[in-house]
Amino acid sequence: MIEDNYKQRGLRNKLVKKLRLKGIHDEAVLAAIGKVPRHVFFEDALLNHAYEDKAFPIGEGQTISQPYTVAFQSEKLEVKPGEKILEIGTGSGYQAAILLELGAKVYTIEFNRKLFEKTKAFLPSLGYHPFFFHGDGSLGIPSRAPFSKIIVTAGAPVVPNALIDQLADGGILIIPVGDRATQKMLKITKKNGKLLKEEFDQFAFVPLLGESGWGASS
Ligand code: SAM
Repeated sequence: MIEDNYKQRGLRNKLVKKLRLKGIHDEAVLAAIGKVPRHVFFEDALLNHAYEDKAFPIGEGQTISQPYTVAFQSEKLEVKPGEKILEIGTGSGYQAAILLELGAKVYTIEFNRKLFEKTKAFLPSLGYHPFFFHGDGSLGIPSRAPFSKIIVTAGAPVVPNALIDQLADGGILIIPVGDRATQKMLKITKKNGKLLKEEFDQFAFVPLLGESGWGASS
């Protein structure tokens, strides 16, 4: 039984207020952050930190992204109900839950087998049902393309060509690109076959591995 009591709801509301002050203004995104119980994605030892605006370890050397980052990427995706979204880097499943709350049909891919199996078993117990994939998301999921939106939740050295190819016309790709330590958030919009690139602030993600990432396997 997953507990979500008065205290946790209060902490979540405070977090939503903080994100508003930091510049997040999409009401649907703020409502989703206010609804998804972030504490259930945390191990017991870190439970008291669940509603801090920080990234935390989820095992396997990986992290659950900072709430501001999740909100920022979700806002920039301009999610509309029913849209088909590809998420690269399932991790804890928290970002996927936010996208599902926004009404999207979510395809999520994770490279690390243990995290893939853990999250695939856990997330549906919260009532969240994305399509789970295990593999190298730097290559996208060609068999399920095209996608209306693509979100990459790990830092890439370059924008993978496969993701541009798998983006539908009118679609948006949001991806942090830079070196292993810090990355600039990019929003790429495909319109009539042309690409429009917008650049935002610096973020610090764990590296995107794989063929079009920093190499190496999971
Ligand atoms: N979205 C996650 C969440 O809500 O918890 C946070 C993801 S964490 C910052 C980045 C994730 O990307 C890690 O779980 C990592 O294993 C995964 N990853 C790294 N390279 C990948 C790749 N090539 N394909 C799929 N997943 C990858």
